[in-house]
Amino acid sequence: MKTAHRKSPVMRRASRLFLNDVNAGKAAVVRDFLHQCRDITQYFVDLLWQRHDFSADLADLPTIHRGRDRFGVTTRLAQALAKQAKEVCRAAHANGTRKPRMRRWTSTLYAHFMTLEAFTGDYFDYALRLIGSGAPRLLLPLHSTRHLSGLLDAGWTLGKTVRLGWRKGRLFVECLLEKARPGLQTTGDVVGMDSNYKHGLVFSDGQTTGDTAYDTIQGFATRQKHTHAQIKSLVGQALKRIDFRTIRVLCIEDLQHVKAFKRGTFPRRLNRRLSHWLYNLLAEKLAHCCQEHGIRFERKAPWKTSQFCRFCQKWDRRNRRGDLFVCRTCGHTDHADFNAAHNLAFLGLAGVYGLRSLQNSHLV
Ligand SMILES: [Zn+2]
Repeated sequence: MKTAHRKSPVMRRASRLFLNDVNAGKAAVVRDFLHQCRDITQYFVDLLWQRHDFSADLADLPTIHRGRDRFGVTTRLAQALAKQAKEVCRAAHANGTRKPRMRRWTSTLYAHFMTLEAFTGDYFDYALRLIGSGAPRLLLPLHSTRHLSGLLDAGWTLGKTVRLGWRKGRLFVECLLEKARPGLQTTGDVVGMDSNYKHGLVFSDGQTTGDTAYDTIQGFATRQKHTHAQIKSLVGQALKRIDFRTIRVLCIEDLQHVKAFKRGTFPRRLNRRLSHWLYNLLAEKLAHCCQEHGIRFERKAPWKTSQFCRFCQKWDRRNRRGDLFVCRTCGHTDHADFNAAHNLAFLGLAGVYGLRSLQNSHLV
């Protein structure tokens, strides 16, 4: 499934706009609608899960009618929510997780229910018009954001659907954007990237970024409001400083099955969950950058990459001394992150997942 997605000719992004200027009456109508959507979607999820229906087909009409009659909504709305329930169940089944519970009040609105157009007037940028068919009839005026205008300037176009949601007392609209995927780079370097809290991101081609961002992140109290949004923007800014044009393949550590940041000092104020969240965020943003630049993005096993000497290709656990890498065999001295980044690039060049794959050869 993931492979199919990767080969999709279209790239997708989402951009969230908060509806801070909607009056209380309209907000209540939208909130009630989203609440109802959540209940109906959960009803369909329960039905599908009970039937072990994880197919990709649309829900059948009797099922849709059952939901429609039970909640007194239009067939069209029941159909749209059944479709979302099918997608949720299918994804959960593929991931081997338990029956999904719809905690979030977020609903995808297809073109039957809404139009998104330029706002006629000065104060706002867009008008999201809900046109009935089961959704309420309302006009929601929206301000654009730097994120959204940046994407539109970079050639992304607005898709035909939006997601409408309610989170922590705020209504938001998530615009879905699309752009044709560029072809893969055929020239350029195979580059590795290593990251830690102290030095930020270190690339094997010599580029570094984010060292000050990571200092700032360490300074955040974890419970502080908006912290996640601030971190997201810091990571985004750090990645903007990287020149991706000379890169053909980018290799990063696959930390899926490894404790996050086991190397270096782990700041106590950041709990492990946050550090996992941060690494996943970084990996996702990097994957997006790579997608946009036609760069192959590969995850490699971090096993021994910090103790392996990139010059004599021997490894020793004593080679690593804090921030410094000193090879016990050949004496090669290097910045530890730079050495690790090089080893990730080495795995990319060798076309293997980890050093373990080379263990039986003459190299390791
Ligand atoms: Zn060496």
